[in-house]
Amino acid sequence: MIYLDHAAATPVDARVLRAMEPYFGEKFYNPSAAYLPAKEVAADYEAAKGTIAHAIGAKGADIVITAGATEANNLALSAVSLDGSCRPFSSPTSQGSVGDPLHGRHPSMLYLVTEHDSVRRVAERYGGQGIEVLPNGMINMEDLRGKLSDEVELVSVSLANNELGVIQPLAEIAALIREVRLDRMRRGVRRQLLLHSDASQALNLLDVNVARLGVDLMTMNAAKVYGPKGVGALYVAHGVRLKPVSVGGGQENGLRAGTENVPGVIGFARALELAHEHLNGNRKKYAEWRRILLSELEGYELINRKHCLDNFVVLCYNGIDAERLVFLLEERGVYVATGAACAASKGVRSHVLAAIGLSDSQIAGSLRLTLGETNDEAQIHEAARVINDVVKAEWDRLSGIKASHSWFF
Ligand code: PLP
Repeated sequence: MIYLDHAAATPVDARVLRAMEPYFGEKFYNPSAAYLPAKEVAADYEAAKGTIAHAIGAKGADIVITAGATEANNLALSAVSLDGSCRPFSSPTSQGSVGDPLHGRHPSMLYLVTEHDSVRRVAERYGGQGIEVLPNGMINMEDLRGKLSDEVELVSVSLANNELGVIQPLAEIAALIREVRLDRMRRGVRRQLLLHSDASQALNLLDVNVARLGVDLMTMNAAKVYGPKGVGALYVAHGVRLKPVSVGGGQENGLRAGTENVPGVIGFARALELAHEHLNGNRKKYAEWRRILLSELEGYELINRKHCLDNFVVLCYNGIDAERLVFLLEERGVYVATGAACAASKGVRSHVLAAIGLSDSQIAGSLRLTLGETNDEAQIHEAARVINDVVKAEWDRLSGIKASHSWFF
């Protein structure tokens, strides 16, 4: 089996699993309990949060643990002040009420049109407005500039897109946001303006230091960095006010109540440590494998040419049904995707590929290959050979159908 869908899921690293194991067994205690072994677990949990925070240049107190990136994105976007129920992140005692975005006024939120649905769908509920992308998938800075009215409270732009791997110029966006904030201050406009970024796909390949990126809120996802599924985190800059995703026992500063997922968080911390250790080596390795694929594959159009994560290869075989290719490749032991796993499984046309201006037939013919730690160089050569074979057989089949049609009519 050759797995080329690491953007959809990564296997849990054996070292991560080893770090998690004790917290399912002998260290099972509830961190809120009063006895010593539970207090030790609570200390381990806080230390793990510290490690997660350290990986992005923040403090443990700036991190809210969530059940994955979807929840972190939902929490981040609640920073817009709909009904006054926002509560300061830094106050661990007071409980806010869960705001209902559908029944408030409509504040202005901007989001990149190519964002993951866990940003897009929430932003739509808040009456958000999309920022256009250029044909290469990069943000259209002029469009952003034009839409940054005095109403806008939050801008959400992912660090790297999950269908194309395109990396957005966050530092440049942050600089523009700072400029607008200053201008608002000078004019006496008191509305907040925050920058959120979903860094789910970028954690093990890019610099994700929150100060250098200039973000106020940042989403992380353990499931994409060889950690456990259903574990994520939101970085929240000091003073940013959010609405709780769940209320109850007051965990995570009252923003996400519920007994802590101790093994998950311990695993996430270990996964981030490993990601950090291997960051540069991985980038070089994936860039080389990407180069091999692009030189050995035949008859494709390359969709993500520049400014993208080294492990993303998005190809178009215009005229071929890529969904058929996925099934045919699976029969040959090669696992690939046509787009975001969740959109593809529902048979929905990719909004990302549409946003960069691909035609319906280009979208239908697009394959996403994402490289990762389950691969080696021999697999990459083999994958190229199998994909060429399958594509050629598909062209032969299609030209056979065409020929028999022209003969018949
Ligand atoms: N954001 C991005 C960029 C993603 O790639 C994903 C997962 O595919 C998510 C958010 C959602 O993550 P999860 O399903 O773990 O909540």
